[in-house]
Amino acid sequence: MNGSPPKPIKDEIEKLVNDLNYHSYRYYVLDSPVISDEEYEEKKRFYPVRFFNKEHLYYYEVFKKVVGDIPLPAKGEVACAGCGAGIRQNRCHCRVCGWMEGMSS
Ligand SMILES: [Zn+2]
Repeated sequence: MNGSPPKPIKDEIEKLVNDLNYHSYRYYVLDSPVISDEEYEEKKRFYPVRFFNKEHLYYYEVFKKVVGDIPLPAKGEVACAGCGAGIRQNRCHCRVCGWMEGMSS
């Protein structure tokens, strides 16, 4: 065993990375996001997450598709103000959505 994932999983990971890079390139380099203003505003109202920008929305949708629902806080965690996931006490960064304590949307 060489530690590499099996080929179908490796292919899926590469496709996902390429998709994420494509959306980031369109958003940051070309200033031509894949997600329209209308779609962004509609999904901001629909989803229970406070998005930073269109790229953040895209990453959230990938998370939902690949991982599933946002995990609720476990015992000893507090709810993230951005997405509701659990954040360990004495931490200020959400590992799920990237929210930082003190941010505003
Ligand atoms: Zn969060």
